[in-house]
This record gives sequence, structure tokens and C-alpha cells, in this order.
Amino acid sequence: MNCYLCDRTIPLQVTWRSIFFTEREEVICFQCQTEFERIETGCPICSAVGEEKCLDCCEWEKTEYAGLIDNGKSLYRYNPAMKEYLHRYKFLQDVVLSEVFAKQLKEELRGQKSVIVPIPMNENKLRQRTFSQVDRLLDAASIPYVHVLGKHEIGLGGKSKVERIALQDVFWWNGQPVPEKILLFDDLYTTGSTLRLAAKVLKEKGAKEIKTLTLIRA
Ligand SMILES: [Zn+2]
Ligand SMILES: [Zn+2]
Repeated sequence: MNCYLCDRTIPLQVTWRSIFFTEREEVICFQCQTEFERIETGCPICSAVGEEKCLDCCEWEKTEYAGLIDNGKSLYRYNPAMKEYLHRYKFLQDVVLSEVFAKQLKEELRGQKSVIVPIPMNENKLRQRTFSQVDRLLDAASIPYVHVLGKHEIGLGGKSKVERIALQDVFWWNGQPVPEKILLFDDLYTTGSTLRLAAKVLKEKGAKEIKTLTLIRA
């Protein structure tokens, strides 16, 4: 088969494992894989470069959002290869690309005791984009999850006072039981506001521990 990203042929590797265990075939070539930069160490909440809690996360700790995220992790840096990937996956809606990180997500979430809750898309956006990119990443890795939140249309970039107040209500509880231990999952960590706004609603509705996992740290 050919690499999903560069279209070069991927040499078929027949190993004893691949014969006896139906392992998922690689969907991108080795060369493309090496272009993604895996995060080894970073801020214990957002995986920003450095060993300790980053300045951004320290600033969050001075607000009403303090302590909402118990700990968090992001898997990859937002380098040029990742930017290209995300553009094609998210904006050009190339749905097969949901499989590119399936193996890594599966490894990361193996044995996970928390219930996985993906950050939802609002329904209008979902209609435009036709599929939820965040859900599909988990589907591709056969990872079970539950939706406990809904999302209003208001974006996070609002400038007016009214819009800023509305920010508080970006997410709403959809009435499903809220698990005590949650792992919030999203594709991209940028400012950290999305995850914190979601975590706030979940903790208000009874969640005791919230961890986060994002595929990419911008
Ligand atoms: Zn490739
Ligand atoms: Zn941080």
C-alpha cells in the first residue's frame, strides 16, 4: 500500500507477529513517521517545553480555573510536518488520516482507568465538517469513549464583553452520568482554555479527577 501522507509505497513487512496477530498495517511510511516530533518531557499539565509547570499553566492557577486539570499530556509537538497533517485532516477533511496515530493512541490509552470524554464539536460545525475529527481519532484506535458535554456555537476568540461572558458557557452538560475519573481528549492544545472550560463543567457536575490528553501541543 501507499503512504497516506506522501504516497510513497510502504514496503510490506511480513513478520511472525503480523501473521499470528492481526496487527494494523502501517498507514504512513517510515520517513513520514520520523518527521513527527514526539514529546518526551514537558509541563505536567500541558507538555510545554521544560521540566516544570510552565508559565501559562501557572497563570491559569491564579484564576477560577485553578486545579481543574489534575495532570495532562500531549503526544506531539506542532512542527511543520504536524501542521501539514492537521491541515489536511481537519480542514481538507481527509478522513482516512484519522488512522495515522491510531497505534500511538492505543498504546497511550492502554489500561486507562479513567473514562475517556472527547471535546465535542457543536452541531453546526459538525454538519459543515461532516465528521468529528476528535472522535474519529479515537474510533480509529478502537478506544471507547462517552460524550458528556455539548458545545455552543460561540467561539473562543470573542472580544466583546458579552462574548467574554458567554465564554463561560461554551460547554454544557448533556445529561449523561458524569464519571468520577475522566480523561478529557482533544486534538490540539493551544491556549488551554478549551480543556479548562470543559473541565469546569465536568467538575461542577461531580467529576473528582480530570486528566487531559491531546495529540498535539501547539
Ligand atoms: Zn510517507
Ligand atoms: Zn503547561
